[in-house]
Amino acid sequence: MKAILVRQFGGPEALKLEEVPTPKPAAGQVLVRIHAAGVNPYDTYMRAGTYAVKPPLPYTPGSDGAGVIEAVGDGVQKVKVGDRVYTAKTVTGAYAEYALALEGQVHSLSPKISFSQGAGVWVPYGTAYHALFHSAKARASETVLVHGASGGVGSAAVQMARAMGLTVFGTAGTLKGRELVKREGAHQAFEHSKAGYADEIMKATAGRGVDIILEMLANVNLATDLKLLAINGRVIIIGNRGEVTINPRDLMARRASARGFTLWAITPEEAADIHAGLIAGLENGTLRPVVGKELPLAEAARAHKEILEPGAAGKIVLLP
Ligand code: NAP
Repeated sequence: MKAILVRQFGGPEALKLEEVPTPKPAAGQVLVRIHAAGVNPYDTYMRAGTYAVKPPLPYTPGSDGAGVIEAVGDGVQKVKVGDRVYTAKTVTGAYAEYALALEGQVHSLSPKISFSQGAGVWVPYGTAYHALFHSAKARASETVLVHGASGGVGSAAVQMARAMGLTVFGTAGTLKGRELVKREGAHQAFEHSKAGYADEIMKATAGRGVDIILEMLANVNLATDLKLLAINGRVIIIGNRGEVTINPRDLMARRASARGFTLWAITPEEAADIHAGLIAGLENGTLRPVVGKELPLAEAARAHKEILEPGAAGKIVLLP
């Protein structure tokens, strides 16, 4: 089968398309024919060798894929050959024609959702769900600012928060991004790179502030975020690429909090909760992954460059 291999940590050029043996499922494992693989920013950190988790080399990247069960190992009961699934982590990597996964790493994919959309489920929607419901404990009467709403996690969070009844604000750097943010359910969209955008957001709350901020770039925005919070407000730090100076008094004055998480450290109970919510939302139409770009698997290096560039518009997926 064809698969992307990383033999040395490095730049996007470290992603090479190679011919490798198709794996066979052991007991408790399944083989998924991957129809689409999702590209996430953390795939690029891992490839560069700068992420907290360093896989043994060589490795095939990718936790998020969607496809069809091709074969099952002994003892597998949850799925059968021919089932449509999305993956939440894999054993051998999703940037490939086939991926091995543990039985517990595959989840039923609604026939309403395309494979490309399915490749954008786990990390983006799992993160958005965990941020909104487990971490922020969002309530329908609250206002949420999705700071970085045009990408994978942000667009997912906008859909979820709107479906739950919150007042939803989103930011994006481009007009196309802001149109996407509104189309996916935000009541208002703001330009995060424009001087004075925070004043516009505060004005939109009539000076009260927002209850929740889901932050995709904390090193740039955290200090400003704290001043945008309402009393008892919460900033949930999802993305961060550096250091930042804040004034803790901004938290004290508002009885506010800032907290972060990584999806990798969630508990099995939280994961089960998330998948139950996602499977229901994909089935009932409240969750509709936005596919911005489909590229052939051979163009994985291009996908890794583009995912870090400004101007997000949904997910980038690779088609084996
Ligand atoms: P993505 O699809 O590449 O989207 C990136 C988003 O960040 C876009 O909406 C982009 O907006 C926005 N952005 C860029 N500059 C910004 C700024 N100055 N202020 C606010 N937003 C800005 O990435 P993603 O998959 O949504 O992930 C977003 C971040 O969360 C990444 O850093 C990722 O590593 C992290 N993440 C963390 C976890 C976790 O477990 N904690 C899980 C998933 C993702 P424009 O392109 O429109 O400018």
